[in-house]
Amino acid sequence: MNFFQYQDNELYAEQVPIKEIADKVGTPVYIYSYNTLLRHFRAVDEAFAPLDHLVCFAVKANSNLAILSSLAQAGAGMDIVSGGELYRALCAGVAPDKIVYAGVGKTALEMEYALKSGVLLFNVESQAELQALNQLAGSLGLKARVALRVNPDVDPQTHPYISTGLKKNKFGISINQAIEEYKVAAELKNIQVAGVHKHIGSQITETGPFVDGLKKIVELIKQLRAIGIDIEYLNLGGGLGITYNGETPPSPENFARAIMPLINELGGCKVILEPGRVVAGNAGILVARVIYKKTTPAKGFVIVDAGMNDLIRPSLYNAYHKIVPVHKAERPEVEVDVVGPICESGDFLAQQRVLPEFREGELLAILSAGSYGFSMSSNYNSRPRAAEVLVRDDKYYVIRRRESYETLIQGESIPPFLQS
Ligand SMILES: *Cc1c(COP(=O)(O)O)cnc(C)c1O
Repeated sequence: MNFFQYQDNELYAEQVPIKEIADKVGTPVYIYSYNTLLRHFRAVDEAFAPLDHLVCFAVKANSNLAILSSLAQAGAGMDIVSGGELYRALCAGVAPDKIVYAGVGKTALEMEYALKSGVLLFNVESQAELQALNQLAGSLGLKARVALRVNPDVDPQTHPYISTGLKKNKFGISINQAIEEYKVAAELKNIQVAGVHKHIGSQITETGPFVDGLKKIVELIKQLRAIGIDIEYLNLGGGLGITYNGETPPSPENFARAIMPLINELGGCKVILEPGRVVAGNAGILVARVIYKKTTPAKGFVIVDAGMNDLIRPSLYNAYHKIVPVHKAERPEVEVDVVGPICESGDFLAQQRVLPEFREGELLAILSAGSYGFSMSSNYNSRPRAAEVLVRDDKYYVIRRRESYETLIQGESIPPFLQS
């Protein structure tokens, strides 16, 4: 359920016509619905209400300060994967003791920043990282609270690039070695072993992989407790899928219902969740304008002013995003590729898609773009990144202004030997 709906054939975000925003702010533009975002966050939060829990939004899904701040004020913590995300979370007013920090390649500088900030937990992904963190914490006179990220070797049945819980993936510590690794961790002076973390992948549309993975983790926690290693936090990661094109992922409520019995077996574990996509994905759209139409002997193309630098998911994962006109009208449907202006054949938003026959100059909306949309965008082809807008009720706010040509070259310089 989201608040992007047609009224009299005009697409609205909440009570604001998309056309009004596009005309004022320009295109391409990401438009988010505040009330949709909050609704999705609360659906997860309320689903786990029976448990002592913390919902940490995965910052990498959408890292705009206004989005983070909206969620933080609704009670969310944050799941971060870099020093930059920590900086963003703190700037957005997130309490450090609601921040959990994952990632296979945390640098010493990043770990120091996180230790000094007082984050709740480091999700440690290797023995080498554990040793480095122990040493660093010692040199700072601090203790690092740690959950080991355990890879349960389950197939999340999703795109290979977003599977993380298979034994061939780079993430986490193999479940078969976990006990040994925990024993080592427990002996380290500046490490406080506090939890177990798992995250098996993204855009998972069934409960099966979550249940299978969790069963293994619950067994592990029981074994750890049996040897005197106390596990206070169970971090379930993120990964819950959304509907892009007819998928029927479990609702947060059904997801919770499927896994809560397993968690209850542990009797008293604080549960952490790290949803990203399910919170922000359908709370945002990307709006673009048709620049040209072009027909080759092979195909029809609709060339729009948003490209793979703005939304890379179709190019990177062959992901499907629904595309709809901002103004609905009676017209024939045609099969086209919707492409951007980037000099790559991989620059497409949709391929061989049957769509209403768009006109030049017309606005179209690329749906389900609130997660891994802007946050994965780049300046490729020296394209200034899009503006971002947050709509709440009948008002809209530019939460990131469109980049300019000046911002494109910010920080670059020409060395003296090239200046005659
Ligand atoms: C990416 C990621 C998430 C969020 O995944 P979604 O599929 O967007 O819910 C959560 N935890 C970790 C460790 C991640 O890397």
